[in-house]
Amino acid sequence: MSISRRKFLGWVGAAGLSTVWSGPASAATTKHFEGYPDSLGVLFDNLLCIGCRTCEEACNKVNELPPPEQSFKDLSVLDQKRRTTAKTYTIVNRYNSSKGPMFRKIQCNHCLEPACASACFVSAFKKTKEGAVTYDASVCVGCRYCMIACPFEIPAYEYDKVLEPRIMKCTMCYPRVIKGLLPGCVEICPTEALSFGKRKDLIRMARDRIHRYPDRYVDHIYGEHEMGGTNWLYLSGVPYTEVDMREDLGVTPASELTAGALSSVPMIVGLWPVLLTGIYAINKRSDKIAKHERELAVDQAEKAASEEAAKSKAKEDS
Ligand code: SF4
Ligand code: SF4
Ligand code: SF4
Repeated sequence: MSISRRKFLGWVGAAGLSTVWSGPASAATTKHFEGYPDSLGVLFDNLLCIGCRTCEEACNKVNELPPPEQSFKDLSVLDQKRRTTAKTYTIVNRYNSSKGPMFRKIQCNHCLEPACASACFVSAFKKTKEGAVTYDASVCVGCRYCMIACPFEIPAYEYDKVLEPRIMKCTMCYPRVIKGLLPGCVEICPTEALSFGKRKDLIRMARDRIHRYPDRYVDHIYGEHEMGGTNWLYLSGVPYTEVDMREDLGVTPASELTAGALSSVPMIVGLWPVLLTGIYAINKRSDKIAKHERELAVDQAEKAASEEAAKSKAKEDS
């Protein structure tokens, strides 16, 4: 398949790989991390998406995932509000928007400062310099805090696997990309709704489209700033809430929110186990973590941690 400029936006040639690409770096935890300067990403433009599910099929193939419950040719599934699962790293849903049917492709957004990595105390998640957030099953203890932490409800757990269940999510096709290949979904998309390239170039391209077609696009590149920014970016013809995307997340990265939460409770660093055990107890119930359940879990865990902190302080003072 030929690679158009739109799909493969100004990417470094294979010759540049050895110098530009390096091994995974630890997840960023500093405040106001702007992202690795040459990190890569994907731009999804929902005005170009026709909801063909070809990207789902390509993802399934390149990641050697199990066959789908319903054929990729069956477009009736588009009307269900599906989420990613342990067997599907990406899905496409259809929404009835103010401009008619609109599609959204869902997968890991590869946050600049990933909440999943911040929540993982064994560092199973890494933010790579290349932009992908990768996962190392060999160190994962299966606590599933990452599932609670992710604001986009992406990581899924292999509940049906008795031996060594893993967290499953889109890898931004890291193994392909470091070989100089496009992510499977980007390569296959027949309408160029997906473009791959340096994040900064994708942002420039998205701004240009908004500038050229102000009547078509909303003036907002989703992922440029949300939760500190993401390597997967979105352009939309309708307000993002119409395609079920959260606009209430704010621009503060997860690591900074965690730092705020930590500083608000005395000695809380030593209380992480209390906080996390509380979250885990609720998380254990089901893999379908509804938003209100997650909020409840965090509230209860924070309350438990605060009470523990107060008790410890009172003991110290006495
Ligand atoms: S979208 Fe969720 S799983 Fe993906 S990097 Fe961000 S926090 Fe992690
Ligand atoms: S980047 Fe790769 S893993 Fe992620 S959705 Fe596309 S094909 Fe699937
Ligand atoms: S392959 Fe492209 S057009 Fe088809 S559903 Fe996926 S993103 Fe949309």
